[in-house]
Amino acid sequence: MLYSDIASVFDRIEGTGSRLEMTSILSELFGTLDPASLRNVVYLSQGKLHPDFFPQKLGMSDKLVLKAISMTSGFSESTVEEMWVKEGDPGTVAEMLMGMKKQTALFSEPLTLDRVMKGLLSIESSDGKDSQERKMKLLANMLHDSGPTEARYLCRIVTGRMRVGAGSMTILDALASSYADKSDRPEIERAFNVTCDMGAVAETLAAGGMDAVRNVSVKVGSPIKVMLAERLPSLGEVMTKMDGRCGMEFKYDGIRVQAHISEAGVRLYSRRLEDLTSNFPDVASSLRAALKGKEAIVEGECVSVDLRDGRMLPFQEVTHRRRKHGMENAVKDYPVKIFLFDILHTDGRDTTLLPYPERREILSSAFRDSENIVMSNMNVISSPEEADIFFADALAAGCEGIMAKSLSPESVYRAGSRGFLWIKYKKDYRSDLIDTYDLAVIGAFYGMGKRKGRYGALLMAAYDQEMQSYTTICKLGTGFDDAFLDSMPELLDRHKKAERPANVDSKMVPDVWFDPYVILEVTGAELSLSPIHTTASGVFKEDTGLGIRFPRFTGKVRDDKGPEEATSASEVMDIYGMQTK
Ligand code: AMP
Repeated sequence: MLYSDIASVFDRIEGTGSRLEMTSILSELFGTLDPASLRNVVYLSQGKLHPDFFPQKLGMSDKLVLKAISMTSGFSESTVEEMWVKEGDPGTVAEMLMGMKKQTALFSEPLTLDRVMKGLLSIESSDGKDSQERKMKLLANMLHDSGPTEARYLCRIVTGRMRVGAGSMTILDALASSYADKSDRPEIERAFNVTCDMGAVAETLAAGGMDAVRNVSVKVGSPIKVMLAERLPSLGEVMTKMDGRCGMEFKYDGIRVQAHISEAGVRLYSRRLEDLTSNFPDVASSLRAALKGKEAIVEGECVSVDLRDGRMLPFQEVTHRRRKHGMENAVKDYPVKIFLFDILHTDGRDTTLLPYPERREILSSAFRDSENIVMSNMNVISSPEEADIFFADALAAGCEGIMAKSLSPESVYRAGSRGFLWIKYKKDYRSDLIDTYDLAVIGAFYGMGKRKGRYGALLMAAYDQEMQSYTTICKLGTGFDDAFLDSMPELLDRHKKAERPANVDSKMVPDVWFDPYVILEVTGAELSLSPIHTTASGVFKEDTGLGIRFPRFTGKVRDDKGPEEATSASEVMDIYGMQTK
């Protein structure tokens, strides 16, 4: 398979905003590939060489890529750099320059998919002495035989900027349409949700059909998409929705961790599938030591505690454990406990399809007593009055609210889905603001006055899961302290785009566009109808969307959430519905 055929498909996808069209373009390509190539193309379309949870080490420095472009195109490094600054994207620069190469290739070897995979894997695995030079030459070698479009995607992949706009749901649609029936789509999605490995699911489907997909199950070491909760505006409504009886747990305000414990060791994953093992080595070793069986997958919330009295500390404290350097000190200075709330696997048995009460029982007897491993506080609640008391206890203990969990026989662990089997209720709901929103940064406006020379405000978006697009909901300029204003370029600039990304739906035009990647937590006064924002556009009024009034940054960068986990347009609609009730 020639890489140029794949690059031209990426180009067509990038050029369309329509999910249906993307699906049909992808499915046409998928149908022509053998299972192993299909797996690789699925990874590449997401700018990766491995599944999401695998540490991605491909990231080449911008400087090195600049050198490789200069070397192959014959243009000086300063010319390449100038264009890069102007275009804001190495892919576009490589594309432009490869189209007017000064050096014509004497010997050229076709750039196949296999060659690209091998080249990229070699770049990834080069380390030690002279590795920078080797990486640069490996890339230059591929660029040498690349046309403009191939060069664009190679440079985006190696710098971690590949986002053609086809989200995971579109890829699943395309897989179903190439290799199965539309009615099989939920089962293919389930296989993805329990393995988080789209490439492996694609290969399994292409090689073994739907029978093989149905046999895919939870595996220790392969993270599972987390189950999420719906929300309701009052405890009374929570109890009614739960038919008058539920398991109620404290809702801890920390970092969610999915722990995969095996005889070989422990791996901890965030809800964004990042490996957090080195951030919580104390939690990992306690879990291993306290587990009675051989292996298990459990979930819990890591919360900072005050060692003197065991009191839970605010979320800000545990974020010190997310830093990249100086972990040894952070482990000492910011002690944590993990509050376990679910078990998904135990000693060879997938427990995700058991009802919640059974899972809870298995979880409670799975561990020996341990100082920093605690079961989440849970009571069976049978009336709104009991719920009120439990909620007050949760707040008094330093929690942000409660999680009500269904006790019904259908209360399985629904990997990757948000539903009413779990309902959250937080203290925020009691004040006039309904909740916090986790929004994607899709643009920035240059500052004025005191903020001159920096970004002054950001354009924020919710995620419309149905349309797979990011829709604007507010312009955010409040809640930034000086340190955050200074850190904005480092946080955002690598996601800069010369034009509006295809998966962004916006009427406003910021000074700078970004690929949706960085998620910030935002509060606000209320939602109101807005002619300039595109979230829920046309749902409540023609040509009008919903906007957050008086938005304010809470100070939390949600680096535990991926862009597709931003607050969804349908959640925004629900909140607006509750507000106008
Ligand atoms: P939210 O992030 O507001 O959507 O709330 C869901 C999050 O609450 C989960 O992803 C967990 O990180 C966290 N959480 C805290 N306590 C619990 C609990 N007892 N059960 C489930 N999730 C919990």
